Amino acid sequence: RAAAPRGSWSSESSASSGCWEPQYRVVLLGDPGVGKTSLANAFAGVQERDLLEQHGEVAYERTLSVDGEETTLLVIDAWEPERRESWHRSHCLQVGNAYVIVYSITDHGSFESASELRIQLRSMRQAEDIPIILVGNKSDLRLRPIPVSCPRVPSPSLCPVSVPLPCPRVPGAVPPPCPPLAEGRACAMMFDCKFIETSAALQHNVAELFEGVVRQLRLRREGKEA
Ligand code: GDP
Repeated sequence: RAAAPRGSWSSESSASSGCWEPQYRVVLLGDPGVGKTSLANAFAGVQERDLLEQHGEVAYERTLSVDGEETTLLVIDAWEPERRESWHRSHCLQVGNAYVIVYSITDHGSFESASELRIQLRSMRQAEDIPIILVGNKSDLRLRPIPVSCPRVPSPSLCPVSVPLPCPRVPGAVPPPCPPLAEGRACAMMFDCKFIETSAALQHNVAELFEGVVRQLRLRREGKEA
């Protein structure tokens, strides 16, 4: 069942609203183009053909059954780093019960932005132990088969895989920056957040990502109840 799109979102519908079925707001953060909307659509079960109709919607609500318990997530895709109004930025950073910070494994700049966002979020919500999940999206681009005629470029030391594209035999081609898989894991450990690689395009690890969010939220809830 596709999720119900929501045109507006506020801090009123929260897990603390007294509703018997917990609902949590999960905010997607990250540079433009890293795949936030694609992940939200994959979560929501929105098909290509629905995308036009969904245009302008920024939040998707869906109830997940995880470990035998139902939890409703409201996934908010409203982050626009290029917007100048600081209220929008701080609202996004204040309103979430959990955060999914996305970068693209093909774009080192987006990885650096993700690190900055984590620092900002931790400092703004210092007193709260909010779950943050760091997501390296577009993992399908790492797995793309390498043409036989195109030898692998030896990878830089931090990078556990060879860099397959572009073909080094193409004159003038510059190898892309190292896909930061090991860096992603290391940073997640340093900042005490979870890490997962996804492919919104192939729907790889998308369910695992949002189930992981639910488990992280429950761990905090159980910690508070104890
Ligand atoms: P946003 O600006 O962060 O919301 O990014 P979008 O979801 O709009 O995606 C930007 C572009 O990246 C689009 O062309 C998507 O089709 C593409 N994209 C998103 N996720 C993936 C992925 O997992 N793999 C690949 N190969 N492309 C992706």
